[in-house]
Amino acid sequence: MPLLRSRLLPQLQALLDLLLPPACPLCGANLPQGPDQPPLCPACLAGIRPLESPCCPRCALPYPAEEGTDHLCEPCLRRPPPFAWVAALGLYMGTLQSAVQRLKFSGAIGLDRPLASLLADRFTDQVREFEPDLLLPVPLHRDRLRRRSYNQSLLIARVLGRRWGVPVACRSLVRTRDTPPQQALKADIRQRNLQGAFRLLGPLAGERVILVDDVMTTGATARECSRVLLTGGASAVAVTVLARTPRP
Ligand SMILES: [Zn+2]
Ligand SMILES: [Zn+2]
Repeated sequence: MPLLRSRLLPQLQALLDLLLPPACPLCGANLPQGPDQPPLCPACLAGIRPLESPCCPRCALPYPAEEGTDHLCEPCLRRPPPFAWVAALGLYMGTLQSAVQRLKFSGAIGLDRPLASLLADRFTDQVREFEPDLLLPVPLHRDRLRRRSYNQSLLIARVLGRRWGVPVACRSLVRTRDTPPQQALKADIRQRNLQGAFRLLGPLAGERVILVDDVMTTGATARECSRVLLTGGASAVAVTVLARTPRP
């Protein structure tokens, strides 16, 4: 039976692909077929701008000049962040920006898998080296969760957890205060605005945690969550996001 299944399944899949060609979840174009089918079409993949060197090794912020080596940015030098590094699929612009907005605001929850699997594949080695014990999505306040009905960061974390073989802790960290959308605030106000907004429900016991979010803008949320996790007993925190806002 397993032999029959292993012979039949690829043929069935090929027939299904012929009848219903798989489409790019972002633009609807046909996806190239084959065993290593990419999750997005070549045009959409090319529209995602990766964060390239030179950038800040702590917060991943790229520098405008194309030459030079990686070095700490001014905010990280002035106030070293509590997290070890940030891994992002790309810059929050163009294709990735509209994809993240659709995932976050338009209920396009089917976009979690293609975007998060690209993110997972790109950082497999870095994550293995970090040896995480837990993935922890940035929580939404319960009022916002009720309005949106899903937490996009948890959807992303579940895909990453399956790919990396790391458990996802979805109820350890809670948001106790609903804060105004961060985008509308200035950097220094963002950090103050978040103080006391997150709480850890139970202590951690030296776990190495990867915090998962959809977008990183100033890093205020990542800083505050990391601080709460380290105070609560985590031994190290790293951050992974789909998109990083480029330098203003
Ligand atoms: Zn496409
Ligand atoms: Zn930095």
